[in-house]
Amino acid sequence: CGIVGYVGKTDASSVIMDCLYRLEYRGYDSAGLSILNGDLQTYKAAGSIGELDKVLPAEIEGNIGIGHTRWATHGIPNDVNAHPHCSSDIVVVHNGIIENYLKLQEWLEDEGYEFVSDTDTEVIAHLVHFNSNSLDLFEAVRKSMAMLEGSYAIAVMSKKCPDTLIAARKDSPLIVGLGENEFFTSSDATAFVAHTRNVVFVDDREIVKLTPEKVEFYDMEGQLLEKQVSTIDWDV
Ligand code: GLU
Repeated sequence: CGIVGYVGKTDASSVIMDCLYRLEYRGYDSAGLSILNGDLQTYKAAGSIGELDKVLPAEIEGNIGIGHTRWATHGIPNDVNAHPHCSSDIVVVHNGIIENYLKLQEWLEDEGYEFVSDTDTEVIAHLVHFNSNSLDLFEAVRKSMAMLEGSYAIAVMSKKCPDTLIAARKDSPLIVGLGENEFFTSSDATAFVAHTRNVVFVDDREIVKLTPEKVEFYDMEGQLLEKQVSTIDWDV
């Protein structure tokens, strides 16, 4: 129902939990987050953001991460079906519905991938992993987008790319927040407006590459885009 991503200099898990609490009003049935710090640490829980808070350790080190509030469309609300979903070194959060997930799942199972959830989302994690065997993370996500049908706003990280977050959208909202030496992405600016009011609206079929130094926007052909920065002037 809502995705969040953060790349910066401070404690990513606190920032992401704060963003998830601010997305609560959209409604959800489960929540989760992953923090990348050499390794990937993933926590998820059915129920409220408070339930997720309960399973988090006191401290999770790491300055890059993704989070999710889920409104289940495929697979009941439980801990396993909660996002993030992972495939080896790849981890994904997703808002939307993948319409061709059954076909992709059958093919990926033939390729040896093992599915553990009942969601349509898990197929994205395995697909990006499959494509990342021969491509870097950005190109693997770009290729995966061309294979996915349906709607998505996604945020993806890989253990192999220690300071990169890739986000993309088609028919689900996605916004990027530009802070000082820190960047945010979310389905809804409400998530991060306490941190920055400078935003870029991501358009359909665009891919975003976020690192602690900069954010770059690309189209599906891999061409770098010039995007306009807007200022959010409404109160939250
Ligand atoms: N279709 C996905 C699921 O059921 C994502 C739902 C959402 O947007 O929260 O897990």
